Amino acid sequence: MKLVFASNNAHKLQEVRAILTGHTILSLEDIGCHADIPETADTLEGNSLLKAQYVFDHFHCDCFADDTGLEIEALGNQPGVYTARWAGEPSNPANNRKKALQELAGIDNRRARFRTVITLIRGGKIDQVEGIVRGSIAEAEYGNGGFGYDPLFIPEGYDKTFAELPAETKNAISHRARALQALTNIL
Ligand code: IMP
Repeated sequence: MKLVFASNNAHKLQEVRAILTGHTILSLEDIGCHADIPETADTLEGNSLLKAQYVFDHFHCDCFADDTGLEIEALGNQPGVYTARWAGEPSNPANNRKKALQELAGIDNRRARFRTVITLIRGGKIDQVEGIVRGSIAEAEYGNGGFGYDPLFIPEGYDKTFAELPAETKNAISHRARALQALTNIL
């Protein structure tokens, strides 16, 4: 089945294609969509719906969109829906990581989770699934792999960050992998 994934993030596309192997996954670029799709909702559910709805309305094709938040327990589950822009606009991953370390300075409770919500629109029908990975925020940055907050996030059951672990490990247990698994179950 051909599905548009409403993203141009090369890392994410790689992850999505590695997991949804039975499907042809097109990026926004592949369908000629160069719009900066608004993400103005105040929940992950709302933003992933906005993105998928935009693609469905303008390009009339089956599609899905994701939205991810990092939820840090000691900060009342912040930054949540503001994860990408936590340290200000435009989104800057290095500054975001710095902010996370600053906000948690001196705090023992480092528990956090990544949560991904995926909205699928197929033939106009809307479905939403989510995936969660629990873990903790490291005391400093470790590793060069992955993207975003990966150098800071240690998944539960491991002693290395996502940026240090092999991509196959991350792809087996990550928030997005789990949401994509839930997606394959309804496809
Ligand atoms: P988005 O909603 O997927 O664009 O992600 C929101 C924010 O979460 C961005 O700052 C991303 O860098 C970050 N993020 C999303 N997925 C991951 C991941 O797998 N590892 C680390 N950071 C991520």
